[in-house]
Amino acid sequence: MKMQIGGKSVEACGGEYLDIINPATGELIDRVPRGTEDDAAIAVEAASSAFSGWASTSPQQRAGILYRAAGIVRQRKDELAVLLTREQGKPLAEAKNEIEGFANVLEYYCGLASSFHGDFIPVPQNGYAFTVKKPLGVCAAIIPWNMPALIMAWKIGPALISGNTLVLKPASNTPLTNLTLASILSEAGLSAGVINIVTGPGEVVGESLVQSHKVKRISFTGEAGTGKRVAELAASGMKKVTLELGGSDPMLICDDANLKDAVAGALRGRFYNCGQTCTAVKRLFVFESVAEEFIKKLETGIRNLRIGNGLHENIDMGPLNNRRQWEYIKELVADVEEKDEGRIVTGGRVPEGNVWSRGYFFEPTLVEDVPGESRLLKEEVFGPVLPVVRVKTLDEAIEKANNTCYGLGASIWTKNIDRARIGSEELNAGIIWLNQHLKVAPEVPFGGIGESGIGRENGPDALSEYLDLKTVMIKT
Ligand code: NAP
Repeated sequence: MKMQIGGKSVEACGGEYLDIINPATGELIDRVPRGTEDDAAIAVEAASSAFSGWASTSPQQRAGILYRAAGIVRQRKDELAVLLTREQGKPLAEAKNEIEGFANVLEYYCGLASSFHGDFIPVPQNGYAFTVKKPLGVCAAIIPWNMPALIMAWKIGPALISGNTLVLKPASNTPLTNLTLASILSEAGLSAGVINIVTGPGEVVGESLVQSHKVKRISFTGEAGTGKRVAELAASGMKKVTLELGGSDPMLICDDANLKDAVAGALRGRFYNCGQTCTAVKRLFVFESVAEEFIKKLETGIRNLRIGNGLHENIDMGPLNNRRQWEYIKELVADVEEKDEGRIVTGGRVPEGNVWSRGYFFEPTLVEDVPGESRLLKEEVFGPVLPVVRVKTLDEAIEKANNTCYGLGASIWTKNIDRARIGSEELNAGIIWLNQHLKVAPEVPFGGIGESGIGRENGPDALSEYLDLKTVMIKT
């Protein structure tokens, strides 16, 4: 596939390519242009030229186009899901869910098209004021490989409905679904240059976009380390930035929790998308009195997970997305064994057999008796490995859960309203779930605190991130 700049499919200025590999088979499925600084500049120019035309359309006209695009995406859901599974690795059912999520988010923002307007403010002593909300101009979005379609929607929905134009840099491992979705937006009637997709390395294309003086706002999703680099570069141009970064979500299971539900929540919360979800359950704290029963049930659930190529039927968990991630997970588990930092209850290996030989598969893994200094509790484990820690009280669980630099999500599992209240007040996170984990919705603000980021996506507040507020004061 080619990049999409100014309504055209184009090659990179440098004439080089990036290979796109199917993580389940190791096959080369396509290649995309390896974009350069020049390509990023050309895309910003295209977005800048398209801005005044797009900003002068009414929000309702914009909604009409985005709504049409969502309809086409729904019609082509099966084909898009296959493409997403081939480049990302997730089971087809999860890919379909994500493609539907893309359409849901776009439609949600279409519904907000009439909702953003300024205010009229009477001012004491013969005057009044009003405020006007205006689009910012060219925005840039930089996204990761774990949920490329959904996160694309989180960026383009609010940016486009509020009248901005956009340059999006997909992750280098998963640009194909993003490029196809952008072509659907054009087919739905989006004018040339309103959305531009530049493929290529983050250090080159991403940094060029962040530093371009014509880019007014950056919305970044990715690792905390990359987010800090983006924030540093953006600061010199005093740009607006949203950073949606990593997490190490704790799940707290009290002794009065419904254990069947908690096991199902932990299985889905950890192993969905092969553990590569920012708000996955990454650390489990369970009350001692129910720990044995809970761990036994969870072990059974994990052993029943069917691992394989996401395109095949009845698969619960696909491969990790890329070699770097696969090596990292293997190294973490090897560390547990070498340092004797916990007991591997189940999993812990690359599955054997020919079928696995070229994919990035790793067994879903449960580790118990994990000491506080273990890397499993300190780092963001972005893969199918779940450490369990036994605790005596809710206070101990909260203290240990908060012992992290991250603060994205957290869940507490209990039937006791006081415990639920205390957990939701005291756990340090942007999102708290009660008796569930992982669920997100376009209507609900999403984002973290601490090293999990700055700003929020989704919900009506996300729109204000893409609008400037101008105040006009009038003397009467
Ligand atoms: P990443 O390595 O930080 O990459 C994210 C994006 O940034 C990619 O497009 C990457 O391009 C680009 N990039 C890399 N270096 C850059 C630089 N110096 N300047 C500008 N852009 C640069 O993250 P990832 O491994 O793709 O994604 C996994 C991480 O994302 C995890 O930490 C996960 O928790 C987090 N995440 C957070 C959320 C949330 O909403 N909070 C949601 C999903 C994922 P290349 O692909 O070319 O390297």
